[in-house]
Amino acid sequence: MIITIHRGTHQIGGCITEITTDTTKILIDFGEELMPQTPIDEGEILRGCDAVFITHYHSDHVGLHTHIPPHIPIYLGKVAKQILVELTARTNKENLYKVERFRTYTPMQSIKVGDIEVRPLLVDHSAFDAYMFLIKAEGKTLLHTGDFRGHGFRGKGLMPTLQKYVGKVDALIIEGTTLYRDGGEAKTERALQLQAATLMKEKKYVFVLCSSTNIDRIASLYHANPFGRYFLCDAYQKAVLKIVRENVGPRSSLYDLQKIVTYGPNIEDRFFKRGFCMLVRNRDDHRRIIDKYPEDERLILYSIWKGYVEGKHKSERMIRFLDGLHYTYLHTSGYADAETICEVVSAVSPDVIYPIHTENAAWFKGRFGRVEVKT
Ligand SMILES: [Zn+2]
Repeated sequence: MIITIHRGTHQIGGCITEITTDTTKILIDFGEELMPQTPIDEGEILRGCDAVFITHYHSDHVGLHTHIPPHIPIYLGKVAKQILVELTARTNKENLYKVERFRTYTPMQSIKVGDIEVRPLLVDHSAFDAYMFLIKAEGKTLLHTGDFRGHGFRGKGLMPTLQKYVGKVDALIIEGTTLYRDGGEAKTERALQLQAATLMKEKKYVFVLCSSTNIDRIASLYHANPFGRYFLCDAYQKAVLKIVRENVGPRSSLYDLQKIVTYGPNIEDRFFKRGFCMLVRNRDDHRRIIDKYPEDERLILYSIWKGYVEGKHKSERMIRFLDGLHYTYLHTSGYADAETICEVVSAVSPDVIYPIHTENAAWFKGRFGRVEVKT
């Protein structure tokens, strides 16, 4: 089994990993870069490829799927695919048919492509229905973590899953997104929810700027919303949440998102009267709604990555959206903190580590005894 990291060793986003045996070649993720930095020869990477496995629907992992020829199967989680279909229908309609052709995988059920076996293991991440892949071929075992974390609502399942279904591996491909800073232990999603609940009680009109596909954050806010208040969003967001409710709501109280109302001007008087929590994105029409409500009675929670308003990835559109608004930062990372990464390494005791999705691959060097680190 030969492992090639085409992109990801020294950057966040745009990850592409190749696994090759004597007879078979697969790719894990086919992501778009956050900003262009590492050119690749896509034609060469895709040549002879038997299948592409996508860990989750974030565009830095799936974004280049439109370049994959139709004869190469692409696999994604079942609910993740439905969410990506909804998102693509809104933002990139001409490519909708290219997402509709995706095949899906089921947690724990291995898929065999040639002599490579891929077993998807559900993980907690800021994307819903996200996976690690346990890969077996030519007598070797490899774990590809994708993006994951231990501090979300479902993070407690991480270590038992690794102990029960993974055990020792020959190679570990692991994300190190948060390692560029000394962040310490990440705030849990539960702690964030408690903070949100306290803040939301103080103001009648709450607007939350968050990713439309960060389902666990939205579910958390839904349950933090004070009793009697509306939970509002636009029609697209409601359709995304309906997918989650219909697929997993019956099995989980967290995702039982029953009472969601689409914002419409015809019933604004009721919104004014009862108060609400509304999910917004950096759109002009959402900004116009915010401006309708009195400043002293409204709370704006900024619940996404800080990088959109500061540093090299900052977005002019986001800055324009927030112009003149007083907002409160309330966010926690979708990625594993250093402590969780150490726990994963020790649980699977690899002989070789391939850091990916990181700007600090060197962090791994010398940290795990004699384990070889490929940077
Ligand atoms: Zn991600």
